Amino acid sequence: MNRLILWDVDGTLLGTDGLAAEAMRAAMREVVGPAAPMARTDYAGKTDWQIIRESLPSLTAEAVAERLHEFAAAYLSRMEAQREALVARSRVFPGVTAALEALGGVARQAPLTGNIAAVARIKLECVGLLPLLDLAAGAYGDDHHHRPALVPIAAARAARRYGRSFVGQQVIVVGDTPHDIACGKANGARTVAVATGPYSLAELRAHGPDVALSDLTDTDAVVAAVLG
Ligand SMILES: [Mg+2]
Repeated sequence: MNRLILWDVDGTLLGTDGLAAEAMRAAMREVVGPAAPMARTDYAGKTDWQIIRESLPSLTAEAVAERLHEFAAAYLSRMEAQREALVARSRVFPGVTAALEALGGVARQAPLTGNIAAVARIKLECVGLLPLLDLAAGAYGDDHHHRPALVPIAAARAARRYGRSFVGQQVIVVGDTPHDIACGKANGARTVAVATGPYSLAELRAHGPDVALSDLTDTDAVVAAVLG
């Protein structure tokens, strides 16, 4: 158990059929009011904090930081209110459960996601993945707005939980966007990219991950990619 695998959530493990993005936009609207200009921005690979900042260009970074808890509460209550729809419409991507089960025997596994922690929990719970990941060893969008800063936060949490440190390539970042690859590389982690999100295999390869996979259906290939 000398490895720590940090899994991105959206586009890597699961999808919510757009429900979470709708809830997030509605929560932003609720917090800033009907008149504030809202920009359309690409959500993939970004932290929730970063998405709010880009969506609300009229607010300063400080104003967003101050109101983050307010936004998180509005977003969370919308997600809680639509649990049934989330269970019905969310899906785990092919091969994910088998990959998590296979790697669970040899490594610690936690989420590393731009989602605020409470929302990550709901998404994982709605698709039945909660028992396969240690959420207390992960890092989330409400820990920091800058994704690369999440890797050391997760590594420190894992170190406290398991009584050992995880350094360099002992940490593996798995995700579906160039942001995931960049955040792993910035921290000297091993990076595995998977093309189940908005980016193609070729686009992901251009960002230089250690391994790029088209999906997670071949469990042996996933285990080999992650463990190196
Ligand atoms: Mg993602």
